[in-house]
Amino acid sequence: MKEILAWREINLSFLLDNLKVIKEKVGGKVDVIAVVKADAYGHGAKVISLFLQKYANINTFAVAHIDEGIFLRKIGVNKKILVLSPQLKSSIPYYFEYELTPVISDIEFLDELGKYSNNKDKKLKVHLIFDTGMGREGFLPSESEEILKLLRRYPNLILEGISSHLSNPENKKDPYNIFQKKLFYDIYNQFKDEDLVFHFSNTGGIFNFPEFHFNAVRPGISLYGYGDKLLKPVMEIKARITLVKELPEGWGVGYGHTFMTEKSTKIAIVPLGYADGYRRDLSNKGRVIVNGEYCKIIGRVSMDQFTIDITDKEVKRGDLVTVMGRENEKMVDAQELAILSNTIPYEILTGFGSAKRLKSI
Ligand code: PLP
Repeated sequence: MKEILAWREINLSFLLDNLKVIKEKVGGKVDVIAVVKADAYGHGAKVISLFLQKYANINTFAVAHIDEGIFLRKIGVNKKILVLSPQLKSSIPYYFEYELTPVISDIEFLDELGKYSNNKDKKLKVHLIFDTGMGREGFLPSESEEILKLLRRYPNLILEGISSHLSNPENKKDPYNIFQKKLFYDIYNQFKDEDLVFHFSNTGGIFNFPEFHFNAVRPGISLYGYGDKLLKPVMEIKARITLVKELPEGWGVGYGHTFMTEKSTKIAIVPLGYADGYRRDLSNKGRVIVNGEYCKIIGRVSMDQFTIDITDKEVKRGDLVTVMGRENEKMVDAQELAILSNTIPYEILTGFGSAKRLKSI
């Protein structure tokens, strides 16, 4: 079939623009670790990583899980790859085989990795993550002595980096950020004489707390265009109108008739729904752009289509719909969709990203 009904557009030049904004924010001496987990936040880990490797001088990528790291190696990423999240012990051989860098969270895993490394004639660079108040992965600050003792026992493990993750850096006023900073500085002071990579900040830390930058940062969402007003959304979602029709007054629209027409109403169908990442919470709330005008969603979002009100508008079958994106001065972005559906842009982007039906162009 020639005509695609709904698709995802990835604007790689905006990715470069965003990276430039980030680099300007952190300064030339701070390394940028590109976070490409969750299929690069739904933008496609293959296209994003290979592009950043080739055109943006990115030296380190970060993924959540070992399988994502192996995937990057298989498609030709030859830079450093950090595996951020805790993994099963059965993952250990793969760090060596694919030269992936574990970000170690606990004594047990460090010990297992060390024992395995003693039987290898290969060294493995490792990073450590400390839980300075995220309450998720990471060593507690009190464990640093024990970590150093263990590392001395395993000469094939080369300590390369020390990290932590912020719990609420988007909120500049949350005093918890300062609490975490203090704990991270304590750890930094223990390790600072060694030539290590210290990384503490994700997007919130990068834009809100210059003193949290250390010598490397881990931006995710800001690469893709969210987290500061200078950034440009990289992903757009487009579709084509598949049906236009007139409904009489007093007619219910969609499942459960959550919208009733109050007058004769012209509607159009947009062919994507919650199975494609367009959330059901947007029923009767969201809006799209068609031919330069905002059109409201009426009725419930279905699995594979939703309905918009086009009364008094010039819209026909086949017309382009900007479901998420910009048309001249009008824009619907993931932030707007997130607020309306009581979530965060991360979930909106990865939701569209997981939709198998939406091809990227
Ligand atoms: N670092 C870690 C450990 C993460 O888990 C994440 C994402 O959740 C990031 C960095 C990137 O965060 P952000 O997308 O907010 O920049």
